Amino acid sequence: TVREAGGNSITSLSSASHKALHRKSLIEKRLLLALDQENLEVLYQPQYDLSREKIIGVEALVRWEDEEIGVVSPDELIPIAEETGLINDIGSFVIEKACNQAVEWSKKGLGLKVSINLSVREFRDKNMAKTIMNSLTNTGCPAHLIQIEITEKFALEAEAESNIIKQMKILANEGITFVLDDFGTGYASFRYMQLLPIEILKIDQTFIHSLMMSDKNQKLVNGIVQFGKSMNITVLAEGVETEEQLQQLKQFGCNYIQGFLISKPVNEKEIERLVK
Ligand code: C2E
Ligand code: MG
Ligand code: MG
Ligand code: MG
Repeated sequence: TVREAGGNSITSLSSASHKALHRKSLIEKRLLLALDQENLEVLYQPQYDLSREKIIGVEALVRWEDEEIGVVSPDELIPIAEETGLINDIGSFVIEKACNQAVEWSKKGLGLKVSINLSVREFRDKNMAKTIMNSLTNTGCPAHLIQIEITEKFALEAEAESNIIKQMKILANEGITFVLDDFGTGYASFRYMQLLPIEILKIDQTFIHSLMMSDKNQKLVNGIVQFGKSMNITVLAEGVETEEQLQQLKQFGCNYIQGFLISKPVNEKEIERLVK
């Protein structure tokens, strides 16, 4: 397979990069099959409102355990899927699943919002808004139950950027909420705050993990929370693992938290148990 991909360069590849290439093509091949057979799963992690003291939503996170290669973490899976274009199929799968789940919970009176992760790259697809609206229609899911978390790990060319803005505005007008994920670590956090219809800002977990380590870190996080307030934007802190972090964030006036302290990502039945 390396010969196909790299031609004569096979002799110059180190054994480490040879292995990496092999794993990548194996993942690609198995992922195609998994998507075809719907062998992916979705787990949900609660999002907790600090002032109302209850779970108000969940984040949908893709999970994949392949028969041949075992568990492939999203951190490995998503970049490969983005490179190969299979990210759109993962996106469609997760959206459909999340919409069905949101409807089911709504029928049970749980009223949970479901957040979906989409990479800014997926919005290169000019039909993205249409695809998402179709999923809502097909599943009977009201737009206000769905949130879209976007991250921006790459610089985008101007044309792709203007398409993203257009697609997002269509969806925001339909009632979908946009969340800016991994805030503070992305490529253009403030630029996207200015251009996109963002309603929730998610402070990256690296800032939360180091929160109690120094006065400087606390000032930084407090600064982000106050910035959110002044922009009239809801602030969510992700990666909250300790009661101490929770109390500090509450004192800053942070709106929502998410993290192992409340719950790790779990299946839908477990979410229902946690909410009750
Ligand atoms: P993310 O959207 O920032 O999701 C948060 C990640 O942090 C999740 O990892 C979650 O399991 C983990 N996490 C949550 N609370 C804690 C905590 O208290 N401590 C620690 N140490 N970790 C915590 P996961 O599920 O492995 O996902 C990693 C990333 O992969 C996500 O980061 C997201 O960017 C991406 N991802 C996951 N599912 C999807 C998907 O369906 N589509 C796309 N495009 N990306 C996805
Ligand atoms: Mg996320
Ligand atoms: Mg994040
Ligand atoms: Mg992340």
